[in-house]
Amino acid sequence: MVGSRWAESLERLLGKRAAGPLAGLGLHTVGDLLRHYPRRYAAPGRLTDLTELRPGEHVTVMAEVRRATVRSMRSRGGVLMEAVVTDGSRELSLTFFGKHPGSLRVHESRLRPGRLGMFTGTVRLYRGTVQLTHPDYQLVGAEVDDEAAALVEATRPIPVYPASAALPTWRIQRAVRTVLDPLAETDLADPLPGELLTRLRLPGLLEALRLVHEPYTDDDWRRGQRRLRYEEAFVLQAALARRRAEAAARPGVARAAVGGGLLDAFDARLPFTLTAGQREVGTEIAADLAAEQPMQRLLQGEVGSGKTVVALRAMLQVVDAGGQAALLAPTEVLAVQHLRTLRELLGPLAEEGMLGAAERATRVVLLTGSQGAAARREALLDAVSGAAGIVVGTHALLGEQVQFADLGLVVVDEQHRFGVEQRDALRSRGGPRDAVPHLLVMTATPIPRTVAMTVFGDLEVSSLTEIPAGRAPVTTHVVPADNEVWTARTWARVREEVDAGRRAYVVCPRISADAADPDADLLAADEPGEDDVPAAPLRAVEEVAAELAALPVLDGVAIGTLHGRMTSAAKDEAMAAFADGRTPVLVSTTVIEVGVDVTEASVMVVLDAERFGLSQLHQLRGRVGRGTDPGLCLLVARAPEGTDAATRLATLASTTDGFALAAVDLELRREGDVLGASQSGRSSSLRLLRVVRDADLIAEAREEARAFVARDPALAAWPALAEAIDEWLAPDEQEYLDRA
Ligand code: ADP
Ligand code: MG
Repeated sequence: MVGSRWAESLERLLGKRAAGPLAGLGLHTVGDLLRHYPRRYAAPGRLTDLTELRPGEHVTVMAEVRRATVRSMRSRGGVLMEAVVTDGSRELSLTFFGKHPGSLRVHESRLRPGRLGMFTGTVRLYRGTVQLTHPDYQLVGAEVDDEAAALVEATRPIPVYPASAALPTWRIQRAVRTVLDPLAETDLADPLPGELLTRLRLPGLLEALRLVHEPYTDDDWRRGQRRLRYEEAFVLQAALARRRAEAAARPGVARAAVGGGLLDAFDARLPFTLTAGQREVGTEIAADLAAEQPMQRLLQGEVGSGKTVVALRAMLQVVDAGGQAALLAPTEVLAVQHLRTLRELLGPLAEEGMLGAAERATRVVLLTGSQGAAARREALLDAVSGAAGIVVGTHALLGEQVQFADLGLVVVDEQHRFGVEQRDALRSRGGPRDAVPHLLVMTATPIPRTVAMTVFGDLEVSSLTEIPAGRAPVTTHVVPADNEVWTARTWARVREEVDAGRRAYVVCPRISADAADPDADLLAADEPGEDDVPAAPLRAVEEVAAELAALPVLDGVAIGTLHGRMTSAAKDEAMAAFADGRTPVLVSTTVIEVGVDVTEASVMVVLDAERFGLSQLHQLRGRVGRGTDPGLCLLVARAPEGTDAATRLATLASTTDGFALAAVDLELRREGDVLGASQSGRSSSLRLLRVVRDADLIAEAREEARAFVARDPALAAWPALAEAIDEWLAPDEQEYLDRA
């Protein structure tokens, strides 16, 4: 951010001693500190309810001093001061130790009965009394001499900062004051254009910072927060608008539908009729592809809503027009599955060069990191020569060596596992025409409109809302892990399904009991923010597979395993054995999470279900009930009533509506997790904005931002805005520069 003082080092300004602990919170510059907003505001009159203190917790409480006594300790020598503070009913004891009475005099003189203050420390239980030992504290109005000033101070809302044990909130407050008080308007450049501030009656940057850091009233900080929140929304939306404008300015190639080609042949051999939604979205996409401006579209739809067919039709339109299409999947299992699905759907249309191919055919090839050198060389050749109309792959497709003859369309499946940068990397590999390929992003995670606007603001959004007819319903139950009758029933149900010719998935959070577990971060990436569940050893694939094999109720049932530590050949084989029924029970990690399609699968058992996020469980559940057999999802969990985990599981059991689940998910998760998963670290710049709560504000800021970018795409007239956008777009790089 521009402004001469913004980047100034705190160490220079405050000295090493004061700046050290701030650096521990990641605050290095004036800007860092001023953007470290209070998390909440304590009302000076309102005391903390002391019944809620739990031993071991680090707390900051607002309380009134009731009495203080100093006595000597015969056993240990030295003196002990005990101050008792109260919330009006309960008491909390503060203890201070000293060598001699003089060493405690400071505390004695300050902690006088009737004084209000904030006390911070770790709660201990000592002989039945809750206490804080050597708490750090700040008394209300203690730093002003005259009474009138003290009175004003005593009524001001008290900012409470995200703090650490080493750095209590009032030390942060003091540092903020030291930095903020001498600043003048001209020291900071405001990213919000002046005309916008005037029109919307928003305070300028410096004023807003004063309002949130040093409010006199609750209205003050609310006004300050609103402006800063607006700023976040506006900068974000301006960044997205500029991105859009830039992408639109780069030339693409129009790939209009050509009659009598692969697409028509495909439609003619489709064994079902497209749903109304598929037709509608298909028309939108066809029109996008026919334009020279590169398409940037997000296609969202429930698991099983038929996105693959829609994407394939788009790919065929491009191939008909002489281009190639790439389909990017988040895992090898999925890439392989996509390859199989596309080849099946296309039949002879995908057999170009082979005996029995259709007259007009193309080639669909696979490119992954773990395939053999020969297969890889062939695939690379097919891509660069143009022989392959469709290339399916994983991250390996992003490699430098991969070149296309004429890449016209990139389809990214399950966007939430891909960063924006990766998307860009592939788009820049367009082939000789140096054109930007069209982009279609598919996600099965339903994204509420406001999130789509925030995270994918540079994409147009299409939704498939209906599930093709004939799909069976899925019933969901939560099974308490410690209830032996219920867990026994779970495996008995699995047996019944297997006997009826169906299949069961059993999902575990880990591969094996040892530490290094490649699939564990798949879990971590989607894990709920607050870990409110008592830690217990997590169930592991290998161990569970062995246990199930030994269960009498599953006697004679072949059990397969699948996880990320297997070679891709072994993974393929495991999937194939499950699909054709050789191993009707598959114990696996979440590698089966997205897209895997085995229509006979009717049971999904998730172990340690409390460890999974709501959207992840919803995805897993989508693996069953894909055929005509009704599905059953059993969530075996240890989730005490009242925890977030219990809420998640109960919500999941109560509905299969993905949009309803997404809304609950957003409320339960920390915002950073929601945004972080999709935009790789960018969430760090969203401090006050909440995508659900601030939906209206975001929509308003979006309108404004688009208008400013339309007027002047380079934003030359608003350098502070341009700089804020750059910072937003590359926070990691920015951090790197700061550290260098
Ligand atoms: P998604 O990728 O959205 O999860 P898919 O495209 O894999 O869904 O479709 C799920 C299943 O439904 C596939 O077996 C597919 O062939 C089938 N399908 C797709 N569209 C239709 C339709 N209009 N009618 C019937 N079945 C369909
Ligand atoms: Mg799919």
